[in-house]
Amino acid sequence: MVQILIVEDDPNIASFLARGLAAEGYVTTTARSATEARRWTATLGAELNLVLLDLGLPDEDGTTLLQSLRAEGFSAPVIVLTAKDGLAHKVAGLDAGANDYITKPFAFDELLARIRAVRRNVAQPSPTEIVVGDLTLDLLTKLAQRGGRQIELAPREWVMLELFMRHPNQVLSRSQILSNVWDYSFDPGSNVVDVYVGYLRRKINVPGLPALIQTVRGAGYRLTPA
Ligand code: CA
Repeated sequence: MVQILIVEDDPNIASFLARGLAAEGYVTTTARSATEARRWTATLGAELNLVLLDLGLPDEDGTTLLQSLRAEGFSAPVIVLTAKDGLAHKVAGLDAGANDYITKPFAFDELLARIRAVRRNVAQPSPTEIVVGDLTLDLLTKLAQRGGRQIELAPREWVMLELFMRHPNQVLSRSQILSNVWDYSFDPGSNVVDVYVGYLRRKINVPGLPALIQTVRGAGYRLTPA
């Protein structure tokens, strides 16, 4: 599995990238600000395989963000995506630690080719299984298990459980879950997250074993391994 963080504040571009990359089999997470991007790079850590970084972010310049991430030892490849096509911006982006640079508007096929090229240069192993407590997700066979017992999951439930398992013990807000599991196509005021957490709980709870997903009042939900 290849996990890509999209750092982009324009919802249309972010959504276009997320859909296009998902269609190619990539798993994406979207951050709409530098602050959100820092949160995701900290939580995903080495599981993050690549970052697509817009330079014009609402809270901080993307170049500054990249510079500070590199200074902290963040090593995943970064492709800068930006409308700023001046040479000075390209040089600044590369100097800040970008592996490549692509100017908007770009052809999606070109972006895919650049992603493949950057990844060839850094060949990272991708795990094929996620294990959290007694839960196991096999990313190749798409089998989910709890304590060795198989769990049948609908596609959205799978994506939601994978999101929780990639962030164990961490509170995920409804909007984080919404943007990762449903992208931007749902009304943020909808209760779809709560409904699906309910479905997921019913599937992963086993009589006699502790409940794994807790509601954190006013904040969201958290998966705590058994
Ligand atoms: Ca922007």
